[in-house]
Amino acid sequence: MVSGTASSCVNHPSVEATGRCKQCSKPFCDACAVKGATGNFCSAHCQARHEAFVKRAATLDDMTRDTSFFAKLWMRIRKLLVFALVALVIAVALHFLFHVNVPYLSDFINENL
Ligand SMILES: [Zn+2]
Ligand SMILES: [Zn+2]
Repeated sequence: MVSGTASSCVNHPSVEATGRCKQCSKPFCDACAVKGATGNFCSAHCQARHEAFVKRAATLDDMTRDTSFFAKLWMRIRKLLVFALVALVIAVALHFLFHVNVPYLSDFINENL
């Protein structure tokens, strides 16, 4: 017995399938095919589910784009913070190791330490 093969329609086991549902992957024949805006489906139920899925995916896409914008902004701020920290370390090293008078920093160190 070879019922349920990939090549026969899910509703008509004797009819050869012409496509697969984009939502549930079930094979269907021309008579059962539901042609939707996002693809071909085995039923209107699957079509509705897939269209809802596509809409949700598009919304998620927008959200990811927003997140990546803030992520990029945060990366820039972090780079600036790291740069400022490195500059401060270099200035302190110049002051202590090479006795270079660093404007503001040397005054601050002399007054407070
Ligand atoms: Zn389906
Ligand atoms: Zn069919």
